[in-house]
Amino acid sequence: MHKLIRKISAFFSHSGATLPDASSLTQPLVLQRDDHNISRSDIEKSALDVLYSLKRAGYDAYLVGGCVRDLLLGLEPKDFDVVTNAEPEQIKQVFRQRCRLIGRRFRLAHVTFGRVVIEVATFRANGEAQPASKKRFLGRKNAQQRQVDDSGRLLQDNLYGTIEEDAWRRDFTVNALYYSIHDFSIADYTHQGLQDIEKGLLRLIGDPETRYREDPVRLIRAVRFAAKLGFKIEPKTEKPIPLLAPLLRDVSNARMFEEVLKLFHSGVALEVFEKLRHYHLFEHLFPQTDALLAQEREQFPRMLVIEALKSTDARIQAGKTVNPSFLFAALLWESMLQRQQALLEQGMTPQDALFHAANQVIEQQISHTAIPKRFTLQIREIWAFQYRLPRRSGDRAQTLVEHPRFRAAYDFLGIRVAAGEETLAELFDWWTQYQEKSPVERVAFVSNLAPKPPQKARRNNRNFYRKRSQTSDKFDQS
Ligand code: ATP
Ligand code: MG
Repeated sequence: MHKLIRKISAFFSHSGATLPDASSLTQPLVLQRDDHNISRSDIEKSALDVLYSLKRAGYDAYLVGGCVRDLLLGLEPKDFDVVTNAEPEQIKQVFRQRCRLIGRRFRLAHVTFGRVVIEVATFRANGEAQPASKKRFLGRKNAQQRQVDDSGRLLQDNLYGTIEEDAWRRDFTVNALYYSIHDFSIADYTHQGLQDIEKGLLRLIGDPETRYREDPVRLIRAVRFAAKLGFKIEPKTEKPIPLLAPLLRDVSNARMFEEVLKLFHSGVALEVFEKLRHYHLFEHLFPQTDALLAQEREQFPRMLVIEALKSTDARIQAGKTVNPSFLFAALLWESMLQRQQALLEQGMTPQDALFHAANQVIEQQISHTAIPKRFTLQIREIWAFQYRLPRRSGDRAQTLVEHPRFRAAYDFLGIRVAAGEETLAELFDWWTQYQEKSPVERVAFVSNLAPKPPQKARRNNRNFYRKRSQTSDKFDQS
């Protein structure tokens, strides 16, 4: 990194923070192999194999995007993306049975090495961000074919292009750096990516408003990268965010679900959450939760959300798995409780109130972020478990602990305690101890429970799940 900073600083000592004159953009800025800190030993072996195989077959091949950015910053990349001038069928010929072509609208190659999958894309065009003078000789054909709808959203993104065009259609300058397998240099076509890495700035390529309108998901990508990298969002990139936040309503709810997972499973979910709220993006992702947060009743549900995000961050940082339904259950819990209360006041039984409140809250949420059906079932289970965990006598405790959703439900109880529901602390401790005991000890432990006053007849909890499982779509749409 120090070497990188020294070289880049020398490189840029002559230039200001604005885009250089377009006439100087015909050539990328290039950091030669000795001038940067990326060594081949930092690169996933399978990605290197892919790069070398493409090179041997006579194609250009580069690492691009998050992996180059992260390696320059000394971070461990999440994955390695490769771009090449080979078209998908040609990529397939190089890798044969290792290679699967995916995507209908824009074809991509997945090259598989055991469990590792390297995504290989062909250079794409379509970047409106490209300076006009440059477009004249690079992208005229593509510019004519580029299609946007009335709000400026890109309708197609499926033209092959040159590496320059590929660079200009990317989102942030720091995501548009290319590491060449031919000479191990790094090419920066926007002339700002390297500089922004050094300064810790997140800057959209081109006119920010146009780029956000083309693809509103870039609004939340800005927040994710700012949180993950600890970067500042450059003022022109930052300014339109709250104004354009309502454009998120145009993004398909299925894509929004994927993006929400990336946001909250980034390892910096707490920071992401604060930033989403700050830029008025959160209200377009979780409007019900946002409305409650605005009320701030005794710090609830803010604390529950925060505890859930903290626990998610801790698990990711410890390399543990995370379950999307836990996160959604926490984000929507307080909204569900409020509905449930209203329904109880209308005279519904507790069980029916829980069932209908859960349905209503989930149905409203999926119009913003689709939730695959297996997760909506789990969310309901986690919620229903909150009412089952206090009932532990006889063989109930053992039945509950063997349920596949027990662990998530127990963790959920834990974050409720951490968020301030002190009356549940004893129950949570009891379950913690129960899990640590041998089967014989468990029996004695349960029999020590203070006898409870007789309960009213309970409805069968299973109705709660049976009713829901009648719908069969992949996503739980209403
Ligand atoms: P991460 O570390 O989260 O994987 P990343 O930068 O690699 O970060 P990806 O979503 O994997 O992000 O995308 C890979 C690259 O594709 C990005 O770096 C960027 O160059 C380009 N890209 C992805 N999404 C967009 C978008 N919505 N608009 C323009 N370019 C994009
Ligand atoms: Mg990536």
